[in-house]
Amino acid sequence: MQKGNINVQTENIFPIIKKFLYSDHEIFLRELVSNAVDATQKRKTLAKIGEITAVEGDTSIEVLIDSEAKTLTIRDRGIGMTEEEVNKYINQIAFSGATEFLDKYQGDDAKTAIIGHFGLGFYSAFMVAKNVDIISWSQKEDSTPVQWTCDGSPAYEIGEATKDERGTDIVLHIADDSLEFLEQARIDGILNKYCKFMPVEIISGTSSTWEDDPSGEKDEKDNVKKIEVKVPNVINKTQPLWSRQPAELKDEDYQEFYKDLYPMNFEDPLFHIHLNVDFPFNLTGILYFPQLKKEMELRRDKIHLYSNQVFITDNVANIVPDFLTMLHGVIDSPDIPLNVSRSYLQEDANVKKISGHISKKVSDKLASMFNKDRESFAAQWDDLRIFVEYGMLTDEKFTERAKKFILFKDTEGTCVTYDELIAAVGETQKDKSGKIVLPYTSDAKAQHAFIEPAKERGYKVLVMEGPLASHMVQKLEEAYPEVQFKRVDSDVIDNLIETDEASTSALDEKQEETLKPIIEGAFPSGTYKVKFVPMTPTAAPITITRSEFMRRMKEQQAVGGGGFQMFGAMPESYDVAVNANHPMVQKLLNETDSKEQARLAKRAGNLARLSQGLLEGEELTSFITEGYAELA
Ligand code: ADP
Repeated sequence: MQKGNINVQTENIFPIIKKFLYSDHEIFLRELVSNAVDATQKRKTLAKIGEITAVEGDTSIEVLIDSEAKTLTIRDRGIGMTEEEVNKYINQIAFSGATEFLDKYQGDDAKTAIIGHFGLGFYSAFMVAKNVDIISWSQKEDSTPVQWTCDGSPAYEIGEATKDERGTDIVLHIADDSLEFLEQARIDGILNKYCKFMPVEIISGTSSTWEDDPSGEKDEKDNVKKIEVKVPNVINKTQPLWSRQPAELKDEDYQEFYKDLYPMNFEDPLFHIHLNVDFPFNLTGILYFPQLKKEMELRRDKIHLYSNQVFITDNVANIVPDFLTMLHGVIDSPDIPLNVSRSYLQEDANVKKISGHISKKVSDKLASMFNKDRESFAAQWDDLRIFVEYGMLTDEKFTERAKKFILFKDTEGTCVTYDELIAAVGETQKDKSGKIVLPYTSDAKAQHAFIEPAKERGYKVLVMEGPLASHMVQKLEEAYPEVQFKRVDSDVIDNLIETDEASTSALDEKQEETLKPIIEGAFPSGTYKVKFVPMTPTAAPITITRSEFMRRMKEQQAVGGGGFQMFGAMPESYDVAVNANHPMVQKLLNETDSKEQARLAKRAGNLARLSQGLLEGEELTSFITEGYAELA
């Protein structure tokens, strides 16, 4: 054996690597198996061009545990290394690469998940091993086997070895604090996570199958007895679905693959998109659209990022547009830089292109589904809606494309396109300024008292539910400047769509002046503004509304957007619309006993507040008590 020093200044990489990659020790196995895969593929390539003898027989990679010797071995039948190559690739380049990497990513980014994503490669073995041996026999014809041994200090030994098969064994002498990596289940778990779709067969441990007993012995039911046979356990599928041509795949293949990816997900996805680009960047993948329903607590870790079939991460933030993280599936691209910090990713030209491409593919798919089968598209709208809305709110280009398939649903459950909507309501719902007013409800039950009169007037009431509703109406008004959304309870029906037609009021100015303080007195001061509106006598005597403007500001403040923060918390404010033509108003006017007058006004005010859920606490209790008292 010859001794030497690895070409590097750092005294001992062992503690550095341990420190920086602390949270992610298990990735050493991904790195070593990836190297083994690379070596195997290089062998195939070289054989193809005739540099070495063609690949024959087994090319699988084995992960072997020896619990007695406390070693974990990664064995490949790949290209192998000569002594010269070990010197070049392991002693020089790889190590300086590793220190460079560590230098660069000390500090802030050190703890982020991206660390350890390539760049460290072979040396990550020292996160779990006190000693590492490389025993390699190059495929080059006149080569001899070589052994390299290192304990993580810059000192190493190199010399001749014996090996009966060409390829490389990486032998890890597992450190005492890492003995978990000698457990079969732990190793298989890691392999399943990172290596499940690597392109070369990986074998770890054994699995059982049942075969006919060769002796032919029979059981009581006269069947040939079965015996358990241990067979090598293959971890991976070397040709995952996304790496195959879409043309040769059926719907069932995609469904099956979905189950492979998410064994715990019992609902089928709504549809899938197969991504397959090789210019100007490389991208393959399959995205699934899950059943979302109204769920907003979405899991954002269902897209798995791969690089050449090596699992990298399930955190794709900054790589795909935020709204697309609602999707499930796999993205595989060697063009996504993996050893830069997350914040730089977004600025990367390739990442921008990739993310733009995915967004376009998704909108194209939605458009084609809409064109192909409008009915089923509409039936799935409840699932699609949140996604489309979120996309429109966060991605300008998506908004433009979404105009081709966005649907508007009304309280009857009918879904129409924007053009259809305008054709249906454009004339009846135009206000005096020429805007088309679109009344909507965010909660059909709570706003029932307002929806019914609107429908009676022949208005279409749209359903805009969910936490994004107030942002969404704003967005739609930007996208379609000719319309204005108004929540159905934002004003009394007569004022919801302002026209030039003035209705006649039973009250003159003086009477209004007399009544105003009486009605104001029935409400807590400050929050309620009283106004008189001439309506049909059958409409409610008092209606409490909150203006569209005030409500939107409040709501957007609540979800923390819209830039209204600078105004500070907005006070609550409600409009009290008194129906000037209601008989109750005359009764109030004619009442001479001011106490009785106040009592009547209070009663009406309380009823109005009750209907809006605005009567609470002590006020509610005494209102109810008074009501019961009248029954006695
Ligand atoms: P990287 O894989 O990023 O180049 P590594 O530190 O993992 O960095 O490996 C350094 C080099 O060592 C590889 O590029 C390759 O040439 C060589 N190497 C590592 N593992 C093997 C292996 N199992 N078989 C053959 N060569 C290997």
